[in-house]
Amino acid sequence: MKKKIINYGRQHISQKDISFVKNVFKSELITQGNYVDLFEKKLSKYFGSKYSCAVSNGTSALHLAIKSLRLKNSHSIITSPITFISTASSIIMNNHKPILADIDHKTYTLDPNIVEQKIKKDKSIKAIIGVDYAGHPCDWEAFKFLKNKYGVYLINDNCHAMGSKYLGKKNYACKYADIVTQSYHPVKNFTTGEGGSVLTNNKKIFDFIKNQRSHNMVKDASTNKKGIWYYKVKEIGYNYRITDFQCALGISQLKQLDKFVSKRVKIAKYYNELFSASEIFKIPEYNLKEIYHSFHLYPLLINFKKIPRINFFNKMLKLGVRLQVHYIPLYKQPFLKKIDIKEKFPVSENFYSREVSMPIYFNLSKKDQFSIYKKVENLLNL
Ligand SMILES: *Cc1c(COP(=O)(O)O)cnc(C)c1O
Repeated sequence: MKKKIINYGRQHISQKDISFVKNVFKSELITQGNYVDLFEKKLSKYFGSKYSCAVSNGTSALHLAIKSLRLKNSHSIITSPITFISTASSIIMNNHKPILADIDHKTYTLDPNIVEQKIKKDKSIKAIIGVDYAGHPCDWEAFKFLKNKYGVYLINDNCHAMGSKYLGKKNYACKYADIVTQSYHPVKNFTTGEGGSVLTNNKKIFDFIKNQRSHNMVKDASTNKKGIWYYKVKEIGYNYRITDFQCALGISQLKQLDKFVSKRVKIAKYYNELFSASEIFKIPEYNLKEIYHSFHLYPLLINFKKIPRINFFNKMLKLGVRLQVHYIPLYKQPFLKKIDIKEKFPVSENFYSREVSMPIYFNLSKKDQFSIYKKVENLLNL
């Protein structure tokens, strides 16, 4: 029999989820039917947005969110190097230049002070994409200040932070950002298989994105006169639709999000206890008064003095634990090197040399956590 491998993350699908999704296959429409609308209503309610548009994944959500700003090709967008590739590739897909700014050493999110210095010097920067890394919301108050002072747009790449709270509010994302994007990939806080959404309070942005999701085939008063079959495509769009059965899973999963997140928090607290044992570890730090951390990830920093990180990862895998690193800083990727990034990012560099994402997901038991800790302790000779 194959040995059980503990991954850094995974989905939790219950019998209830399965029976709910089964129903969809009996309906007339299995894509773009009632469940898409219903899922969007539930998203708006939970996350406090006027409008929601569910799409095929988090990357298409980012692609359309940026496109909806209608910036010029010469404009650039600033974001963090410590994020998934899509945050930057979606900027390039829209023909804008990505600019990176270092992270804050405590929160691991984009540092607003560095962002401000860059905006002052570079007038081409028209938008900020903040990533609520690991489930820790960015300093959105500071970004709102920058928005008002410099007239830049704010996008929240919220893929890690569904169920987090900022200043006591779980619907914070749409209060600060013009556009919020989410992903419901199986490792995220809840899942639709593949899937994502764009949330906004801006009707114009919403209408644009909704049309773009389905080839920009627009029907309005003028096309109606030509017949019920008629539509017009003024500018190309995409097929970024999501199916009804994915949205049914989303509806069923969203109901459980609070439960999923409180389990993640419980797991994180136990790791905090275990990894406080040695100076070699740095556990995630956050301000309990301002932040409710949803722990999409548990980023543990380890001082790799006694064993190279690569050996540590290989040995842990042999022992049945597949760890991860989130993330290789974007400026190390060849696709961005071409964009001429000569500067240094000391905080991201230091973070990257020490970061290990410990397993965290709904079904991870306390026993599993303890055995993971013991393996780490052994390999590091503590
Ligand atoms: C997962 C993720 C994405 C992309 O989402 P997909 O659904 O995989 O396309 C984008 N940004 C961040 C920060 C993510 O974690």
